Order: sequence, then C-alpha cells, then structure tokens
Amino acid sequence: MPLAEDDRLSTIGDKGKRLWLYTDRVWGLWLKRRAIVAYLLFFILLLAPWIDVKGDPALMFDIPNRKFHIFGMTLLASDGLYLLFLMGFVVFGIFLVTALWGRAWCGWACPQTVFLESIIRPLETLIEGKPGARRKLDAAPTTGTKIWKKSLKHVVYAVVAGAVSTTFVAYFLGRDGILEAQFDPFSHPAGTGFFIGITLVLYFDFAWFREQTCVVVCPYGRFQSVLLDSDSVSVNYDTKRGEPRGKKGTVGAGDCVDCKRCIQVCPTGIDIRKGTQMECVACMACIDACDEVMEVVGKPKGLIRFASLHELEGQPTRKLRPRVVAYAALIVVVTVGLFVTLSNRRELEFTLARAPGPVYVEMGDGMVQNHANLRISNRGDEDHIINVEVLDPPDGKMVVPGIPVIVKAGHEQRLPAFLMRPLPKTPDGKSKFRVRISDERNFEQVIEWSFLSRAQL
Ligand code: SF4
Ligand code: SF4
Repeated sequence: MPLAEDDRLSTIGDKGKRLWLYTDRVWGLWLKRRAIVAYLLFFILLLAPWIDVKGDPALMFDIPNRKFHIFGMTLLASDGLYLLFLMGFVVFGIFLVTALWGRAWCGWACPQTVFLESIIRPLETLIEGKPGARRKLDAAPTTGTKIWKKSLKHVVYAVVAGAVSTTFVAYFLGRDGILEAQFDPFSHPAGTGFFIGITLVLYFDFAWFREQTCVVVCPYGRFQSVLLDSDSVSVNYDTKRGEPRGKKGTVGAGDCVDCKRCIQVCPTGIDIRKGTQMECVACMACIDACDEVMEVVGKPKGLIRFASLHELEGQPTRKLRPRVVAYAALIVVVTVGLFVTLSNRRELEFTLARAPGPVYVEMGDGMVQNHANLRISNRGDEDHIINVEVLDPPDGKMVVPGIPVIVKAGHEQRLPAFLMRPLPKTPDGKSKFRVRISDERNFEQVIEWSFLSRAQL
C-alpha cells in the first residue's frame, strides 16, 4: 500500500510548534449525510440518560450499586459475561467496519468528530466567520470587536462542554443525581469532581487541542495500518487520473488542478494526494471539496473518492477476504454467545462461594463449620423474599444472618452463610451439602456444596 511521501505531522511546524488550522467547510453531499448521522447520534447520546425504559433510565452505568441499565435490561455485577460479549461485539464490529470501509467509525460516529464537526466548527464559523476572516482576526491587534468575539466564542465552548459533561455524568449518577449535584455540588462530591474535570477537558479539546486528539492521543489511527488492506474501501485520491497536476488547460496535465481545496477543508490538515495517512479520519470533506472543483472545471467528479486501492489500480475489489471472514465469524460467535447467555438468564439467581479464611472450623460442640458467601441477584422488576433450607444431610444446618431477606428489584444482595454439621465419617473429610434457596412465589434453586472437614483416618 503506498504511504505518504512526507510523514511529518501537518500540524507541527519545523521547530515543533503547533500549526493552527483554519479549516473550511464545503456543504457537499457527504457533509450533508454526515450531518444527518451526527445529529441523530448527538440526539440519542444526549437523550439516553434522561428518558425511561421500563421505569429505569434508558442508559445508566450505576457503578456504586453495580448495575447497568441498557434499554430496559438491567445487568448486575454478576452479569460480567454479557458485558464481555457486548464489548467483543463492539470491538470486532469496529475491526470489521475498518477492514471493509476504513476509518468510518472516526468520520461518522466517534464523539470527538461528532462534537467538533457538527457543533463546534459551525459555532466558530457563526461567531468568527470563514477561515480567511478567522485568520485575519487572529492576526489583528486587540480591539473591542476582537475581545468580544473571542470571549463569546469561548463562553459558547464552555457552555457546550458543560452541557455534554452534564449528560456524560448523568450516565453514571442518573438524572436525579446529576440534578442534585448541579444544585448542591457537595451532595455528590465525586460526581461534581467528574463534571468539572470532564468540562475542563472538553473545553480544552474544543478550544485548542482539536485534531491533535485524533492525531496524537487516539490509538485507533495507529491500528489502521494493520486493519486495512488494498481491498478496504476508504478515502483515496485517484493518482492515475489526477497526475501530473497542472492548471486547467495545461497540455498533458491530469485532472488535478492543484487548487489545494482538499487540504483547506481537511480537519487534520493533510494532503490526501500523498496517499493513505494515519491522520485521515475519513470525514470525506476532501471528496466534497474536490467534486465542487471538478464541477467548476468541467471534469467528472470522483477524483478523490471512496474507493479501494485495487479499484484505483483498475483491479476488482475483493469484499470477502480472510480478515473480513474472520472478523465476521468472531462477531457471529459473540452474538450467539450473547443470545444463548441471555436466553438462559434467570430473574433470580443464587450463588454460594467459599469465603476467604480457613476452609473449615471445628466448633467446641463437635460440629464443623464452613464459611461461605451467599449472593442473591434479583434481575426482575419485583422485590422477592428469600429463604434458605438444608435438604441434605439431615443433621446439617445453615445460618444466614438476616434471612428471610427482601431483595429489591434490580438489586444484588451478599450475605455471609455458615454451613454446619457434625464431623462426617469420610476418609478424605469431604461430604455433600444440598441447600434449597427459594422465594415466596415457589421459585427455588438447589445448590450443592462440597463440605470440607478434617479427614478421618
Ligand atoms: S484526507 Fe479527506 S477524508 Fe481524510 S481527514 Fe482529510 S478531509 Fe477528511
Ligand atoms: S481539490 Fe481536487 S483538484 Fe484541487 S488539489 Fe485537491 S485533488 Fe487536486
């Protein structure tokens, strides 16, 4: 795959100084499509923690109570397997999308791009004008107009950062929690701290760091060289058609008129004509810009287009490649795993696990005790009253302080449990314990416990 001939970052000058970009926008076909997707995602992202599905927030990650609400489904701490499958689905999904369509995630769905391109840049243009005006304003001496324009812009950035941060924290504190924290910051010190921290980080990103997040911080761009191949469809310049560059009408020149519009609209400041580059976030702004130029000079659109390198070389693009099949197979595996585990998911679930410390304790009255932890997971919408009973051995006892206990809907309760029996006459000291754990509506689960004690020689 051809690489950029000059791999120096376009936003870093010769002496290592940041070069500020005055990015222009062309309201072309791709920008319009991206705007629709971006505002839809923005809407979902901002709305999800504020609306209810089945009485709980549509999306909420309640870390103190170890509960995740995901569109009507409540996952508890004991549901780590579902989250693992979900994460696998997202990761392999991004791998597959990248292998097929390059960095589509970056250009179309990453919150950094969505906020910056759909909210911040349009607001900046509204306040300070087009790139030429912005450049002029930055170079101009400090005047009243400059002060109020700059102040207004930064206040607007801070308000947007605060609004996004409020929603972000609402994902963890819930809408009541975030509203309480906003009116009384000391009622949720951790939430308030996160709100301030995230607002400052977002403001810094909107006001100054911008494309550096994609170019310098985000690791995903670095992966693209291993995830892409010559059949991946991504933003590419048709070198065969465009070169050699030259003004319109130049004899022997290709279609590229070297107007540099593709560079002027690029949010990371790169020249796509140099080939596939790590900084390209697949925003397709260069396609819109070049198509506009092609229209003006009377040439067919698509000098820069969404195409594979094989297509540009005149070869067929292979969609089904080993990596595509492998990622798709992994997605099928995690999806099946997710559905199988979800279909076996029970509203009430009990787990009995050995507690840390000595495996058994001999009591003074001839009894032996095993110490365990009982976990009761209630994933349903109703409270349950839980009781325990020993089925076997007949002389066995189980003491769970607090039983019978009410376990609230969508909650998990952990209780200490003490299993006791007279010293069993088994050569290895092991014996079986069977415990029935039930609720008031005849739901029951029988758990077998391997009781440990001193071996009888
Ligand atoms: S090269 Fe084109 S697609 Fe890539 S970031 Fe720049 S404008 Fe967007
Ligand atoms: S916008 Fe098109 S014509 Fe202009 S420099 Fe870029 S590739 Fe060449």
